[in-house]
Amino acid sequence: MHRQLRTDLNNFEKILSHTTAVAKEHLNQLDTLPPGRFISDIPLQDLPLKGIGAEAVLDYFQKNFAHQMANSTGPRYFGFVTGGSTPASIAGDWLVSAYDQNACGSNDSIAPQLERQTIHFFKELFGLSEAYFGSFVTGATMANFTSLALARQWVGEQRGVDFSNDGLCEAAPIKILSGTPHSSIMKSLSMLGIGRKSMIKIETLPDREAVDIVALENNLKEAGEPVIVVANSGTVNTVDFDDLEAIGRLKSKYNFWLHVDAAFGGFAACSEKYAHYLSGINHADSITIDAHKWLNVPYDAAMQFTRHKRTQLQVFQNSAAYLGDPEKSPDYFHYTPENSRRFRALPSWFTLMAYGKEGYQEIVERNCEAAHHFGELIKASENFQLLAPVRMNVVCFTLREIDTTMEAIKRFLDGVRDDGRVFFTPTVYRGIPGIRAAVSNWLTEREDMELAFEVITVVNQKMKLQV
Ligand SMILES: *Cc1c(COP(=O)(O)O)cnc(C)c1O
Repeated sequence: MHRQLRTDLNNFEKILSHTTAVAKEHLNQLDTLPPGRFISDIPLQDLPLKGIGAEAVLDYFQKNFAHQMANSTGPRYFGFVTGGSTPASIAGDWLVSAYDQNACGSNDSIAPQLERQTIHFFKELFGLSEAYFGSFVTGATMANFTSLALARQWVGEQRGVDFSNDGLCEAAPIKILSGTPHSSIMKSLSMLGIGRKSMIKIETLPDREAVDIVALENNLKEAGEPVIVVANSGTVNTVDFDDLEAIGRLKSKYNFWLHVDAAFGGFAACSEKYAHYLSGINHADSITIDAHKWLNVPYDAAMQFTRHKRTQLQVFQNSAAYLGDPEKSPDYFHYTPENSRRFRALPSWFTLMAYGKEGYQEIVERNCEAAHHFGELIKASENFQLLAPVRMNVVCFTLREIDTTMEAIKRFLDGVRDDGRVFFTPTVYRGIPGIRAAVSNWLTEREDMELAFEVITVVNQKMKLQV
């Protein structure tokens, strides 16, 4: 064994405590570290010939890089839709690395069975029928990709073609209909060979991001062939929800695959106040829900659900001879894009066991309340204006200047980031450049929103003085 490996093997325990110390240093400051920072390109170093050993690497990392990480797990990182990591989920995540299981389904570990258990918990949490088959992928983008791969196969089947074997070269274009699809849907269409241009954007309701059901029906009628409908449960700008009951009713008249992108909106199911937004979700043929957003587990975790397990097998079956019986569950090799896969269900299992249904109801309700409070502060202010009413956990707003350009928004957001207490990301809503505050962290309290409002007010004043 290499000398350095031997030393580290003998020092394993010390390395683990040292790692904990580095993590502690960060986690003890979640309330004060700047949520986001500007980092420019670093000069690249050459690969060391001789290693320095794990302990020295920990020191090196801590000295040079630790203070330049984003505090994205803190209570005031409001960019994108960013969840933090609950204590239980961090424990689970660390153990994923320690055990390093290949959760592909080979029958040598409890890992795939625990994934099946975790999926069962989720079906209960989201009110999904037991008829769904579910699996973990890396994020909602991959869950959308996986689901649309099934939808593509299903369209082929309706046409009497097996795309998984015959490919798409000879195929007529596949039509996708959606009101306000997430950008990852478009990316998936590109990856799947369906093409971004196959998306037919359907009109939305007045002043809403939810699809207009009448327009959707007209388009289904016009299509005159089996198509894919992507329904959106929780749009990123205004957390709007398509009417899944109404879309479900259309299924009895028209032949289409219904995919529901509920990346973070799925968590509406955790609270009686919001669960009605998801009513009808069981009409879906496939569903996407992220875990690394509102479940607050570390990155690299989302769930993909489908009622068409057989179709999923057709698309993802791995034909290598050493694989087990593909009909046996849970043999994830044959159902997900990956073969070897991280045991990414474990942090979710830990956090669901630790905090239960009630814990998630509390997080969702507290986050939404915080967002509503921030929305009220914006509404009452002279400097800012809401771009849309606050429905759940996202506040979409802009500067109250007559011509607010994207350039001005970016300058404003740079100022907010450099202040070091809050972090937001820009957006464009109905052609208007704006700002999104997405509240989805388990630590966020009402006071954080008050502090956030104070910061944006100060930065706005400073900007006005500079003009
Ligand atoms: C975040 C998000 C995605 C993409 O999720 P990743 O986990 O970043 O891949 C897809 N759809 C919606 C609605 C989202 O909010």
